[in-house]
Amino acid sequence: MEKVNILIIGAGVVGLSIGKYLSEKFEDVIVVDKEDSFGRHTSSRNSEVIHSGIYYPQNTLKAKMCVEGNHLLYEFCERNSIPFRKTGKLVVATNEAEYLYLDELKINGERNHVDNLKIIYQDEIKELEPLVIAEKALFVPSTGIIDTHKLMYKLANQIEENDGFVIYEMEVIEIEYSNGKYLVKFSNGEEFQANIVINSAGIYCESIAKILKLDTIRHNIKIHWCKGEYYKTSKLKNIKHLIYPVPDQNGIFLGIHLTVNLNNDVRFGPNAFYIDEINYRFDESFEDEFYKAIMNYLPLEEGDLHPDDCGIRAKLQGQNDEFRDFYIKEESIKGLPNFINLMGIESPGLTSCLAIGKYVKDILN
Ligand SMILES: Cc1cc2nc3c(=O)[nH]c(=O)nc-3n(C[C@H](O)[C@H](O)[C@H](O)COP(=O)(O)OP(=O)(O)OC[C@H]3O[C@@H](n4cnc5c(N)ncnc54)[C@H](O)[C@@H]3O)c2cc1C
Repeated sequence: MEKVNILIIGAGVVGLSIGKYLSEKFEDVIVVDKEDSFGRHTSSRNSEVIHSGIYYPQNTLKAKMCVEGNHLLYEFCERNSIPFRKTGKLVVATNEAEYLYLDELKINGERNHVDNLKIIYQDEIKELEPLVIAEKALFVPSTGIIDTHKLMYKLANQIEENDGFVIYEMEVIEIEYSNGKYLVKFSNGEEFQANIVINSAGIYCESIAKILKLDTIRHNIKIHWCKGEYYKTSKLKNIKHLIYPVPDQNGIFLGIHLTVNLNNDVRFGPNAFYIDEINYRFDESFEDEFYKAIMNYLPLEEGDLHPDDCGIRAKLQGQNDEFRDFYIKEESIKGLPNFINLMGIESPGLTSCLAIGKYVKDILN
């Protein structure tokens, strides 16, 4: 049996960021993942957007970590030559109710300390994005895009430079807590003893919590899987900014929006629908919903969209629930000292990853 100080479950962008910060300060840090490489789940199935932090309620972890994470991520990219582009984004409004919403969104963003937000009107919108059909928009200059794969590659490298390890094909199937230590068992028969265990298993975080017999319903940390699909198009060229509608009224997702990647490919999505099992099959029955949403703010014709990819959100917010924040806690109070539990790390989890890493380091200080 191997003995380690800190064992982090999950080599997605969040587990790797936690690994980076902890391996700078502590000895014997390992990150384990059940797959054959890093980021095989949500961290490679997202929009790759560095969000600004305008949407989230003030003083929530999502608001604070998104804004801090945005700054940390741009710095990290510059320092480590990770490809990124600060594209800026337009949130566009197409009717009276949405015009008012944009003013509220600007105020909310400013309360969250998002800089340089500006309401702009038709002429300025046309100058920035000639194809967009909208009377009014919120311009958000601090939004950008990033190469997530290179980010994760660098984080994994830094863990190893700090004498930590990232080990693949290690699926955690059992964890026992006794006498202040955790015995972690893997499907390949290996066993590790750890002083500290961190659950950063993304959409599988609830299975890890349940292995430790945490009653997720009683503790109000049940996970709801919410899928999002993308469509790509080659019809729209020379788009420079990300273009978002106003978000859906239930706060489940940001609305079907346009993103460009670092190669300037255009795609739309993700939409949002709750699912009962994890699978990455593409359900084309939502195609009409995409056309209808996009044609509100961009010229598009039937046949212009083609199915692309999909990802799954680990949401604490169920279908009819109110806003839920990230859940990041040390679980002594539930009888599990030195077990740090991350649940519901949905968007803006990529943007927040470095801020989350720092936050977990502070919990252990
Ligand atoms: C469609 C979509 C779009 C998004 N767009 C954005 C965006 O543009 N910007 C943004 O900031 N955020 C975005 N997000 C959110 C962001 O992608 C996630 O918050 C982030 O990737 C979560 O990272 P993670 O490390 O927690 O999870 P993951 O990347 O899923 O990593 C968890 C890891 O745990 C491993 N694991 C699970 N169970 C076990 C086990 N038993 N044993 C060992 N290993 C295990 C898995 O293999 C996996 O690698 C989006 C999410 C979705 C779904």
